[in-house]
Amino acid sequence: MLNILIVGNGQCGNRILDAINREAFGKKSRLAKFYSQQKYKSNVQTIAINTAVNDLKEMKFTKAKDRIHIPHLHGVGANRNVGKHVFEDNKTHIMRQIEERGNFDVCFVITSASGGTGSSFTPMLVKELKERHDYPVYAVVVLPFREEGTLYLQNAAFCLRDIRESGADGIILADNQFLKQMGGNVESAYNGINDMVARRLLFLLDSLDSEMMMVTDLGDFKTVMNGGAGLATIGFYEADTDMPVRSAIQKALSPSGLLFSSDVYKEASRAMVIIRGDKERLSIDEISTEVEKLSSAVGHVFKGIVVRSGELPQVLAVLTLESASELESLYSIAVDAIKQERDKKERVASVKEVDRAFSQIDGMDPSY
Ligand code: GDP
Repeated sequence: MLNILIVGNGQCGNRILDAINREAFGKKSRLAKFYSQQKYKSNVQTIAINTAVNDLKEMKFTKAKDRIHIPHLHGVGANRNVGKHVFEDNKTHIMRQIEERGNFDVCFVITSASGGTGSSFTPMLVKELKERHDYPVYAVVVLPFREEGTLYLQNAAFCLRDIRESGADGIILADNQFLKQMGGNVESAYNGINDMVARRLLFLLDSLDSEMMMVTDLGDFKTVMNGGAGLATIGFYEADTDMPVRSAIQKALSPSGLLFSSDVYKEASRAMVIIRGDKERLSIDEISTEVEKLSSAVGHVFKGIVVRSGELPQVLAVLTLESASELESLYSIAVDAIKQERDKKERVASVKEVDRAFSQIDGMDPSY
C-alpha cells in the first residue's frame, strides 16, 4: 500500500483537489466529506492551502481539517512577491500541518502557474519538502488562458522556472488554453478541466497500487518522470462499446487526449501506458503493436495492464517531454507581457501625469 500526499495550493489547486476528493468519496452525497471512507486503495492524505478563505469555504468534498487557511487579508492579489513573503512567514505552520500526517512514498502538489498564492507557495513548498524528505515530489501545474492578461502570463513564466529550480522531481502540465473547448462558459470549462485532471491522477494512483496482469509500479513512474526535460503530460481515453483497444490507445496519445498540446511521437522522451478493462476487450496483440509504435518513436515505454471485469477499455499515458514547442510559444508571449508591465511601471514613475494634475492646485484652498 502506498502512502500518498496530495496538496492543492491556491484557488485552482484547491478546486482540483476537491474534484479528486469528490471522485474518491463517490459523487452522490454532499455530506460525503463528513461520513464516508475514501475509495482509495492507497493511504491518500489531501491538504488544501490558501490565503483566500472563501476559496477554502467553497470546497465541498474536502474535510475541514484538510483545509489550511493562511491569513493574509483577501489573498495575495496575483503578486508572487507578496505570496513568497506570506509563505516564508507561515512556513513552520504549513510544514507542521503536513508533517503531522506521517511519512509518504510520493507527493503531488497541484497549482495554477499564474495566480498569486499557488504559484508562489508551490515552488517554496516543494523546496521545503525536498530538503526534509526522501520521497519524490511532483508538481501538477495548470497554465493560464493566453488572454488572461499580462500579470498572469508573467507569473506563469516565473512560476514554472521556480518550480524547476525547487528540486521537484517533475512537472505535469495541464493547459487551460488547450483544454478550453471543454465547456461553454469559463466556470464549466474549469469544472471540466478539473475533472479531467482529477480522474487521471486517481487512475494513475490506482494503477500504481494495484495487482496487475503486467505490472507497472511507482519505480517505473519515477523512471518515466526522470526522463526528458522534467516536463510531462497525461493522456487518457475511455473506449465506447465497440471501440477496439488499439483505437483507445491511439486516442489517449493524440492531442485531444492530452492535458497539454504536444505531438508525443516527436516530443516525448519516455512513457508509461496503462490499459484497464475487461480481459475480453484487451487484445494483447493490439496493445503490443501500439506500444511498440510509440517506443520506436520515443524510446522507452512501460506498459501496464489492469484487468477489471465488465469495464470498457480505459487507457492512461504518462509522457515526459524532451521538447515542448507550445511552452516555447507561451514563454515568448510571456516575455512581451513582462516587457509591457515593466514599460508601464517606468512610464508611471517618470511621467507622473496624475501628480502633475494635482500639483496645479498646490497652495490653493476651496472657496465656498
Ligand atoms: P491563487 O488562488 O492566487 O493561487 O490563483 P488561482 O489559482 O485562481 O490562479 C489563477 C489562474 O488559475 C488563472 O489562470 C485561472 O484561469 C486558473 N484557474 C482558477 N481556478 C481554476 C479552476 O478551477 N480550474 C482551472 N483549470 N483553472 C483555474
